[in-house]
Amino acid sequence: MRAAVCSCAILSISVEGEPGFLGACSCRACQKATGSVFSMSAYFPRSAVAAIAGEHRLYRRQSDGGRWLDFHFCPTCASTVFWYAEFDPDSIGIAVGNFTDPGFGPPQYAVWCEAQHPWVRFPEACRTFARHPDLRSQAPILVATTQS
Ligand SMILES: [Zn+2]
Ligand SMILES: [Zn+2]
Repeated sequence: MRAAVCSCAILSISVEGEPGFLGACSCRACQKATGSVFSMSAYFPRSAVAAIAGEHRLYRRQSDGGRWLDFHFCPTCASTVFWYAEFDPDSIGIAVGNFTDPGFGPPQYAVWCEAQHPWVRFPEACRTFARHPDLRSQAPILVATTQS
């Protein structure tokens, strides 16, 4: 079981098993939302969610690709902890930086690299995309870590 918590620890989510995939996103919206140069997400099947505790609020925005994303954040400390995305309705995204366990590997893919800060370097094995691919047509990256 893994747990992710907000800055003030009121909002928490726990998930079972390993993430289906890990992704980095350099889109401008993720840069603004995180205040960092890219977001780092762990996607789990929705069925892996064991519990969500604490008050959370919803912020819906359009992705740079025009699809909706529902971000859930703590109203006290404003940490965005988890989200749902139109592009992958069977998964839940959780911010890697919010996990209490830092034992995550590097991203398997990086999207919106056209907006990537020039000094950022992703690992050799990480697949990079200028924008956002249709993930359902990218089965190899989705099954890469689902064996466990
Ligand atoms: Zn909080
Ligand atoms: Zn993004």
